[in-house]
Amino acid sequence: MQKVSFFKSIHVKLVLIYVLLIVIALQIIGIYFSKELEDSLKNNFQDSILQRMELVQYSIREEMIKERNETASTSMPPTESGIDAILREFSTDDINEIRVIDSRNRIIATSEDENHSMVGQRANDDVVRKAMSAETIQDNISLDKQTMQRVWVLAAPITETVAPNGEVLGAIYIESDIEKVFEQMSEINRIFAAGIAVSLVITIILGILVARTITRPISDMRKQAQAMSKGNFSRKVRVYGTDEIGQLAIAFNHLTNRLQESQSTTEAERRKLASVLSNMTDGVIATDRKGKIILINDPALSLLHDTRESTLNRPIASVLGLDQEYSFEDLIHMKEAISLDFSTSDAPYILRANFSVIQKETGFVNGLITVLHDITEQEKIDMERREFVANVSHELRTPLTTMRSYLEALADGAWQDKDIAPTFLNVTQTETERMIRLVNDLLQLSKMDSQEYELNFEFVEFNKFFTHIIDRFEMSKSKNVEFLRLLPESSYFVDIDTDKLTQVMDNIISNSLKYSPDGGNIRFGVTVHENMLRVMISDDGMGIPKENVGRIFDRFYRVDRARARSMGGTGLGLAIAREMIEAHGGRIWAESEEGVGTTIFFTLPFELDGAGDWE
Ligand code: ATP
Ligand code: MG
Repeated sequence: MQKVSFFKSIHVKLVLIYVLLIVIALQIIGIYFSKELEDSLKNNFQDSILQRMELVQYSIREEMIKERNETASTSMPPTESGIDAILREFSTDDINEIRVIDSRNRIIATSEDENHSMVGQRANDDVVRKAMSAETIQDNISLDKQTMQRVWVLAAPITETVAPNGEVLGAIYIESDIEKVFEQMSEINRIFAAGIAVSLVITIILGILVARTITRPISDMRKQAQAMSKGNFSRKVRVYGTDEIGQLAIAFNHLTNRLQESQSTTEAERRKLASVLSNMTDGVIATDRKGKIILINDPALSLLHDTRESTLNRPIASVLGLDQEYSFEDLIHMKEAISLDFSTSDAPYILRANFSVIQKETGFVNGLITVLHDITEQEKIDMERREFVANVSHELRTPLTTMRSYLEALADGAWQDKDIAPTFLNVTQTETERMIRLVNDLLQLSKMDSQEYELNFEFVEFNKFFTHIIDRFEMSKSKNVEFLRLLPESSYFVDIDTDKLTQVMDNIISNSLKYSPDGGNIRFGVTVHENMLRVMISDDGMGIPKENVGRIFDRFYRVDRARARSMGGTGLGLAIAREMIEAHGGRIWAESEEGVGTTIFFTLPFELDGAGDWE
C-alpha cells in the first residue's frame, strides 16, 4: 500500500483546519476590536482637545473684544500680553502649539516660544482661512515636517457673538499631538499580536494532541489492514475509547477475527483438497474456461509421464493428445469416457478419461475437470479373457469336428467294415480323452485362479522323490533317449504337495521327451542357489525361438500349434506348472536355443537335513 505523505495526512489536515479557523476568528475579532478601540481613543482625544479649545476660544474672544474697545479709544496697536497669558495657561502636554490669528490673518500670538518670531507674520494655513471664511471649525490630520509625527490641526473662528454670523475677530489654530493615540494603538496591536501568537502556539499543540486521538486509531487500522493483506491476522487494533472511532476499531477487530477464521477454513479446505488430489490414484486435471490447464495432480502427471511445468497453461486437448480429433468445446459436451491409447509396440498403455464441466447456475462454463484412470490392466484382462474363450472354443471344436466326421463315416456304414471301424472308434476315443484332459486342465487352472485348491504338504527328501520320477520315465520311455542324472550327494528336504509336483515334473519331462530327437540326452540336475533348491531339466531338442521363450508358460501358448497338437498337447501344461511352483514359493523359467536344446529351471525352498518340524 502507498505511504501517505506527511502533508496529505489527516493529522496535518486536521491541525491545519483547526489553526486556520482560530486564525480567522482571531483576525476578525482583532480587526473589529482595534478599529473600535482606535475610533474610541481618537474620539476621546479629539473631544478633550475640542473642549479645551472651546474654553480658549471663549477666553480669547473676550480678550479680543476688550482689546478692540481699548484700541479704538487709544488707536494703539493692541498688546498681546493678555492673549499670551491665556495661551500659556491652556498650554498642556498633548497640545503642541496654540496660535491666535486676527481678522487680517496675521498671527498675533503663539504658545510656542520657539515660534515667537512668527508673531506679526501672515498665517498661511488653509484650515485657518477656511475656518474664518466658513465660520466653522476645521480640522485635519497632517504630518509635522520637523518631527515626522502625525498632528491634529484644528482651526476655529472667533466671532463677536457666540451665535453664527457675528463679525469674525480672528481664529485659533491648535496643533495637537495625535501621534500619541496612534502609538498607544500600535502598542495595543502589538500586545494583541503577541497574544495571537501565544494562543496559536497553544492551539497548534492542542490541535496536534486532539488530532492524534482521531488519527492514531485510523493509522493503526491502516497498518492492520496492510498486515492483513500480507496474511498476518495476529495484530489487533488498540481500542482507545468508546466513541465512533473506538467502535470502528472494535468492528475492525471483529472483522479481522472473522477474516482469520474464514481464511483458516479456506486454507484447511485447500489443504484437504490438495491432499485428496495428491493421494488419490486417479489423475485429476482442471482447466480454466478456455481449456488451459490450471491444476494437475501428481498421479495425472505420472499417468501422462509429463512434468507440471510443461503441462500447466497448455490446452488440455493437446496434453491428452486429443487435439486432432476433439476441440475443447467437444470435450465440454463429451458425455462418455474416452480411451486414450498410449500403447507402444513393447507395452500396452491405455488411459480412460472422464470429463465433467464446472458450470455456474447461469450455465456459464467455468472450466473442465478431467479424471484419468489407468485401464491397461483391465484391458489386458479383457483381452486375455477374449483370447482365452477363443482358445478354449478352438481347442474344443477341433477334436469335436474330427469326432463328428469319424462318427458320420461310421454312421454311413463304416461301422460294418471290420478293418476301419476299430480305427475310427479309436480316434474318437483319443479325441474324447484329449477333451477330457483339456477340460480337467482348465478346471484345475480355474481352481487355482480362484484359490479353491488345497496343497497337501509332505516333508520329503527331494533327491529320492526326483529319482523316483526319473526311474518311472526311464522304464516307460518309447524313444531312444539317454537320461543323465546330475544329482548331489547331500539330502535336501522340501515341504511339497507330492501329487502336484509330480504333475509338474511329468509335464516338463514329457515335453523334453516329446521335443528330443532319437539318441538325444536329457539331463536332470539339482543345485543350491541363494538358499533355494534349483531343479534343472535339460534336453538337446529342437529348442524354442528366443522371442517365444518367455511365453511358453502362458495358457494355450504353443510355439508351433500344428505340431504341438499332433503331439497331443493342449498348451496348458507349463501354465499349470507355473501356478504350482509359485504356490510352493518358487519360480520357474526356461532357457533355450533353437536347434540346440531347452532347459527348464524351477526353484523350491528347502532344508539341508531332516531336522524339520516333524522331528
Ligand atoms: P500339454 O503339456 O498341455 O499336453 P503342451 O506340451 O503343448 O501341451 P506346454 O507343456 O504348456 O504345452 O508347453 C507349451 C509349449 O512350449 C509347447 O507346445 C512347445 O511348443 C513348447 N515347449 C515346451 N517344452 C519344450 C521343450 N522341451 N522343447 C521345445 N519346446 C518346448
Ligand atoms: Mg506339455
